[in-house]
Amino acid sequence: MNIVVMGPAGSGKTTQAQLLADYLGVPHLNVGDLLYFYAKEESETGKRVKEAMESGELVEDDLTLRLVEEHLGQLEHKNGTVVDGFPRSLSQAEKLSISVDLVFYLRVSDDVTKERLLKRGRSDDTQDLINKRLEVYHRETEPILEYYRKNGVLACVDGEKDIQSIFQEIQQKLTER
Ligand code: AMP
Repeated sequence: MNIVVMGPAGSGKTTQAQLLADYLGVPHLNVGDLLYFYAKEESETGKRVKEAMESGELVEDDLTLRLVEEHLGQLEHKNGTVVDGFPRSLSQAEKLSISVDLVFYLRVSDDVTKERLLKRGRSDDTQDLINKRLEVYHRETEPILEYYRKNGVLACVDGEKDIQSIFQEIQQKLTER
């Protein structure tokens, strides 16, 4: 089963994706981390990834898709996987050649998102970049929810609760499938 965990930056999607992957015994792919890894490379790909990340914009769809599909094509993902940070645009969702069986959406308000990111204090968590990423999230990423809802694979979860309560809700929804 291929599962996607979605939500804005600071929603805890990586934490929940890791918990879920451990629980199911499948690998976890964090696409934000994958892109950070490429951003450090001295190559044309590295340069394009780095520039987008530093501006708070999304890395181009075709490039992101290629890197993600290359990674998911590896043998370890063949029995299922949990992905977070991807897809982040409707076009990424539509073009993905791997089937998505279930999508957990962590719902978190903008205010809570901002508060959490400012507390986290990662180098790219400045006020300006946080606002920029939220704007990109609403514009590019939110339309995907409707796409997955229509496909009948969307499960919404309250992302403002604590880590364990959110994970319980995810486990509950998983058994309802
Ligand atoms: P994250 O750590 O998930 O918040 O990702 C950090 C940055 O990586 C984002 O602001 C984007 O620039 C880039 N990024 C992560 N995932 C994607 C994606 N699926 N498509 C394009 N860019 C992405």
